[in-house]
Amino acid sequence: MSTTPRVVIIGAGIVGANLADELTARGWDRVTVVDQGPLPLTGGSTSHAPGLVFQTNSAKTMTEFARYTVEKFISLDVDGAWCFNQVGGLEVATTPERLAELHRRQGWDASWGIEAAVLSPAECARLHPLVDPGRILGGLHVPTDGLAKASRAVVALARRAAARGARFQGSTRVTGIEQAAGRVTGVRTSGGVIPADIVVSCAGFWGPAIGAMAGMPVPLLPLAHQFAWTGQVAELAGRNDELTEARLPILRHQDQDLYYREKGDRLGIGSYAHRPMPVELSDLPQNEISETSMPSMLPFTEEDFAGVWEQSKLLLPSLRSAKIDSGFNGIFSFTPDGSPLIGESPEVAGFWIAEAVWVTHSAGVARSVAQLLTEGRSEVDLHGCDVHRFEEVQLSKEYVRETSQQNFVEVYDILHPLQPRLAPRGLRVSPFHARQEALGAVFLEAAGWERPHWYEANAPLVSQLPPEWVPPERDPWAGQFWSPIAAAEAWRTRTAVAMYDMTPLKRLEVSGPGALDLLQRVTTGQLDKSVGSVTYTLALDEAGGIRSDLTVARLGGQLFQVGANGPLDHDYLCRQAPSDGSVEIRDITGGTCCIGLWGPRARDLVQSLTDDDFSNDGLKYFRAKRARLGGVPVTAMRLSYVGELGWEIYTAADTGQRLWDLLWAAGQDLGVIAAGRAAFNSLRLEKGYRSWGQDMTTEHNPYEAGLGFAVRKQKGAFVGSAAIAGVDDGTVRRRLSCLTIDDGRSVVLGNEPVYIDGRPAGYVTSAAFGHTVGRPIAYAWLPASAGLGTRVEIGFFGRRIPATVAAEPLVDPEMTRIRG
Ligand SMILES: Cc1cc2nc3c(=O)[nH]c(=O)nc-3n(C[C@H](O)[C@H](O)[C@H](O)COP(=O)(O)OP(=O)(O)OC[C@H]3O[C@@H](n4cnc5c(N)ncnc54)[C@H](O)[C@@H]3O)c2cc1C
Repeated sequence: MSTTPRVVIIGAGIVGANLADELTARGWDRVTVVDQGPLPLTGGSTSHAPGLVFQTNSAKTMTEFARYTVEKFISLDVDGAWCFNQVGGLEVATTPERLAELHRRQGWDASWGIEAAVLSPAECARLHPLVDPGRILGGLHVPTDGLAKASRAVVALARRAAARGARFQGSTRVTGIEQAAGRVTGVRTSGGVIPADIVVSCAGFWGPAIGAMAGMPVPLLPLAHQFAWTGQVAELAGRNDELTEARLPILRHQDQDLYYREKGDRLGIGSYAHRPMPVELSDLPQNEISETSMPSMLPFTEEDFAGVWEQSKLLLPSLRSAKIDSGFNGIFSFTPDGSPLIGESPEVAGFWIAEAVWVTHSAGVARSVAQLLTEGRSEVDLHGCDVHRFEEVQLSKEYVRETSQQNFVEVYDILHPLQPRLAPRGLRVSPFHARQEALGAVFLEAAGWERPHWYEANAPLVSQLPPEWVPPERDPWAGQFWSPIAAAEAWRTRTAVAMYDMTPLKRLEVSGPGALDLLQRVTTGQLDKSVGSVTYTLALDEAGGIRSDLTVARLGGQLFQVGANGPLDHDYLCRQAPSDGSVEIRDITGGTCCIGLWGPRARDLVQSLTDDDFSNDGLKYFRAKRARLGGVPVTAMRLSYVGELGWEIYTAADTGQRLWDLLWAAGQDLGVIAAGRAAFNSLRLEKGYRSWGQDMTTEHNPYEAGLGFAVRKQKGAFVGSAAIAGVDDGTVRRRLSCLTIDDGRSVVLGNEPVYIDGRPAGYVTSAAFGHTVGRPIAYAWLPASAGLGTRVEIGFFGRRIPATVAAEPLVDPEMTRIRG
């Protein structure tokens, strides 16, 4: 008899069916899939999904999900009928900006290993003869894209899972999540309780309702989206038989927020060109479910489609003699950042969700969730999809509503990587905010925080820059959300002293008799050191992948302050903490603040405000102490992300502004400035400091990432230690490498492909102009064989920019500045 856990999956849409398949493929055969609707057409989004699978995405993870969906669905059929029709994908451009964007997208495909090419209008028209080549400037062709027949794939997956022991139960509505002692024990349904050790909600846009049954906020918004079928299009008549259905590539016309697919002699048209139409679950139609009537289908609002039809006839002139035959406003999920929601409830162990997932990503998401459940780890990095990535303030209904609608509006827009959301803004500000505004801070937003990128008050410094510090002009794309003022701020940091607002960095207080043991167990560093020690360390997963990098300060025998990367670290530490109450973990970010005071004059500045000893002996590199600056109680940590002498100076939120004012006043004679993230990012890259999530993730081990120095193998067992036991710098096959750009001026932004000998060999993670070294820098994943001096090319909007693998760090490798 099987001893694998009893799993109940709520929802028999494309996600639930894929998950049942993935779990049973791994030998978990006690799987029950329940759905409120009849099987196999449940009435959820999958039941009517037109199934276009465009793989291209700026995010590696999303591309991996899509690639796996393609690979898997190609191998599926139902009684010989296809589940994936690999007709290829074509995205066309009608503006020069869009054409440039298609080149950028082709770059992502090259980065993530998807074959793609930008084609001329004539080539596009050859692939898709309905397209008027005179209307377009070119197109991005991805030959492996295509059409997923989602409802049929559900049947194929369900049959396969059922053959391995899974049960599918339709017309069974889940009304409650049963739990005991903090663990899920089953689901309550219209047909009674089904016991379970693990429950996974794959309820699509119904997710928030199921989440509420387990007390778990699910930040998604159901939105209606228009889809229509034309009647017969003369040019398509007789092309397809019933089985083939389509031969033309799936088509996107993003300049007008539209997409198209062929079906027999008709075209399907999907539109995001309308106002966002949020839907309340209580307003869903309750009719009998059929192919044309489902709870996820609202009546077609013709007035929202009028412009779409006109635009479609311009791109596809054959439509002039055709008519719209039918349409509906179909409902599916949007999230605040457009990514899926995957993870386990923090309150009810064993209750998981996998929601806000497109058909495109469904198999990939299901594989990752199955891996999480059966092995504890997904092979694909999930940090951008983890439901715990949001801050508390981002979980409010208002926030989810506003940002998800914005995502609907922007779904096909050309977005710069630094482009901040316009609303809601001002959710979180540091105690220095008023001072920053007075200095003309240009704020961008991250995790709800307002973060200065540079200060207009520093503009006069630009004309004072020594010639070697004057930055070159940027191309218009790289020049967005950037200012030469950043060069002046970097210059002052390296030559005088600057104040950086580090408040938004997540701070956790870990305390209690079990605190040291916990931190020793979950990190790679030796933390059993004297009070006052500060340690840069890594948290690994069981396979040795980097789940975070942390800066741990021991402030007392049983008291640690952990500088973390975000809410995921908080969630992880809480899950890892013993249940006996011996460890308390508090997020102290909002109640505290931090100024990074860095530069060769930092010591003069600080010492002028205190009798406490801030000399090299008084507070050594990577040591922390409590002190008073001008009477303000602070915790000072001698470390620096910019590679200069200085401290992270922490105080309570209420004394923050006072601290800022004191440092500001005392620093005037020393040339103090306030400096922002743009300078910070440049300075950190010059010093080779990695940014977790961007430069490395769970997909990389410490040695590949150049962080082997943070691993103390001899300290004994820790999470991931067994996996990296035989690994070192010499055994790795790929490396996070430092590139400098040969022409000295071309700035790239991240995610671009890197070519060696003309072939894709890796991708850029972080990039910036290095103001101190007078050259652009890019960090990139490359084969370990690409040693120092290797000549590479970076793909940037279809151009190839020559670059060279350089020794790192580029600035102060001897650490004389920082240790001075
Ligand atoms: C018009 C339209 C066009 C789209 N086009 C595409 C496209 O071209 N490409 C693409 O990739 N994606 C597309 N999507 C999105 C895609 O259809 C969805 O993201 C996807 O189908 C979601 O699958 P799912 O399994 O998560 O959800 P669903 O298919 O909605 O399944 C969730 C299931 O949960 C069940 N359920 C809910 N509550 C309960 C309960 N209390 N008890 C029991 N069961 C419950 C529901 O009945 C439902 O069957 C489109 C969506 C729409 C609306």
